Amino acid sequence: MAHLEPAVLADPVELTRALVDIQSVSANEAEIADAVEAALRSAPHLSVGRIGNTVYARTDLGRPQRVVLAGHLDTVPLADNFPSRTDGDVMWGCGTSDMKSGTALALWLAIGQPEPRYDVTYFFYDCEEIEAERNGLTIVSRVDPDLLAADFAVLLEPTYGLVEAGCQGSITVQVATTGVRAHAARSWLGENAIHSAGEILARLAAYEARSVTIDGCDYREGLNAVGIRGGVASNVVPDVCVVDVNFRFAPDRDEAAAEAHLRELFAGYAVTVVDSAPGALPGLDHAVAKEFAAMVGQPPVGKLGWTDVARFAALGIPALNFGPGDPNLAHKPEERVEITKIRDGAQTLSAWLANQPLA
Ligand SMILES: [Zn+2]
Repeated sequence: MAHLEPAVLADPVELTRALVDIQSVSANEAEIADAVEAALRSAPHLSVGRIGNTVYARTDLGRPQRVVLAGHLDTVPLADNFPSRTDGDVMWGCGTSDMKSGTALALWLAIGQPEPRYDVTYFFYDCEEIEAERNGLTIVSRVDPDLLAADFAVLLEPTYGLVEAGCQGSITVQVATTGVRAHAARSWLGENAIHSAGEILARLAAYEARSVTIDGCDYREGLNAVGIRGGVASNVVPDVCVVDVNFRFAPDRDEAAAEAHLRELFAGYAVTVVDSAPGALPGLDHAVAKEFAAMVGQPPVGKLGWTDVARFAALGIPALNFGPGDPNLAHKPEERVEITKIRDGAQTLSAWLANQPLA
């Protein structure tokens, strides 16, 4: 069984390496969860619990505000990139970027910061890289939702040391035209549904997508045809044509507003919603979030892609992503992290939690 020595727990880089070297592809997190749990239980200032392979630890210092720091324990499948190897300032290996370098920072802070300025709930959770149903935080939200309560949350997902806040929503609809089927030799008896789809494509091509700035983060919307189907046979005038349209919308719209926008844009056509997921507002107007962003000192950017930040946002808890990994390297065989980024992230987070200026 893997064991995290005190010397390893005291150094965020060594700790990253140790976590990377415990294989934990999604649904195989028992060993890493055991090691993390044992490490947390060695710290007398934490109360520690576990739900499946999700381990959590809390301080209870009676502070007026509580923050969540969360990192997932799992990785995508290995790709000849296990265990880690280090070359100069770069550590290579599965999970180095997404997100054991971030998870290591949370564990390092949990053990090493007995008196943070806020009460902290730390989550080390399983199954983030697979179906939402199995995600450790989904299970916590069912079994013991009060555990998620906080004033602010930081997910230590890879952001290359920037604050990535909020996320865009996504909705996919089918826009359909109908016509009248007829023999192609007597086409004047029919009405061609594929020809009628030309107007849908024209509206898409003419569409000017918004770019919205919320709390200093830019969210650039996008509206795209992502599929088109129609036609019966070469001797038939088709009576149906369906265009699949995907809309990535800024988080100032909710799902209902995004749907209403599409219905208005495609007025006169049948519009059917296929799937939809909400975005998340950056929440950077919240005092604790502001203070955090100021500590990082770089302008926050909007997150492209969904993370568990949306889960906290849906609960009304402002949340953002901040971690040492490079998001462009996540899930790649050549995944790696810069050791300098781990050290910088450790300094920022520790100064923030200790309420000290950055050295
Ligand atoms: Zn991740």
